[in-house]
Amino acid sequence: MSLKGKVALVTGSTSGIGLGIAHALAGEGADIMMNGFGDAAEIEALRAATAAKFGVRVAYSPADISKPADIQAMVRQTVAELGSLDIMVNNAGIQFTADIEAFPDEQWDRVIAINLSGVFHGTKAAIPPMKARGWGRIINIASAHGLVASPQKVAYVTAKHGVVGMTKVTGIELANTGITANAICPGWVLTPLVEKQLADRAQREGSTVEKVTHAFLTEKQPMAKFSTPEQIGGLAVFLCSDAAATITGAPLSIDGGWVAA
Ligand code: NAD
Repeated sequence: MSLKGKVALVTGSTSGIGLGIAHALAGEGADIMMNGFGDAAEIEALRAATAAKFGVRVAYSPADISKPADIQAMVRQTVAELGSLDIMVNNAGIQFTADIEAFPDEQWDRVIAINLSGVFHGTKAAIPPMKARGWGRIINIASAHGLVASPQKVAYVTAKHGVVGMTKVTGIELANTGITANAICPGWVLTPLVEKQLADRAQREGSTVEKVTHAFLTEKQPMAKFSTPEQIGGLAVFLCSDAAATITGAPLSIDGGWVAA
């Protein structure tokens, strides 16, 4: 229970990678502020089940990560309800795919607001409570698309490259404060965000999800398997450990060899 007494806020933790990270941190004893969209009753059931399973306090904020005032209120709520903010995981993210010429302006604005500006506002709001305790971990969930590009993903790739750059600035600005900042760069993880891309492709190609999945994986990754939310959670736990105390400003790939190829 290496994180007992620490408080972690994980944006977008009602699903997928964020939920995997929240569970991994709770498994090490951290109290959790959950955030994300979804059915209110389902979120409350998830909140209560997480608290019961791991024996930690779990609160919830409905903050919309595209709104800076919501993010600031969520950080205030975290400190008020759970006592501090020690680990900030900027994870919430969305995807939209289209060629640049056809990319709707409002989808560009929305992806940038959540996937890039949301990380900035989350980081900015999290620093003061971390400085107050002289310890902190900022973990930004970027992507292999923070390091290399794919077509039809201009807003996502731009945002994720921005997150990698922002993580470097954050790491060096905070280098002697006890706070580290790093970016996790996953390859494919089977979550609702990717399930939608698989379903869209199967429909486009008149095929089935099962049939397109292998091609989808191996076009990008030498390793023909998904990483899991639990594995991403394991890397987040490591970044919170003393062994990782001098890792900062780094993009860390967990991607089945995607960016090595
Ligand atoms: P997901 O769709 O399963 O979960 C996204 C979460 O973000 C949900 O909890 C959702 O409610 C929340 N969210 C979305 N918009 C929000 C908003 N405006 N305010 C608050 N919460 C919001 O997706 P995922 O695959 O778990 O993705 C999580 C992160 O991991 C994203 O940043 C994504 O870009 C990144 N990522 C995913 C993959 C992958 O293969 N799944 C790979 C690399 C990076």
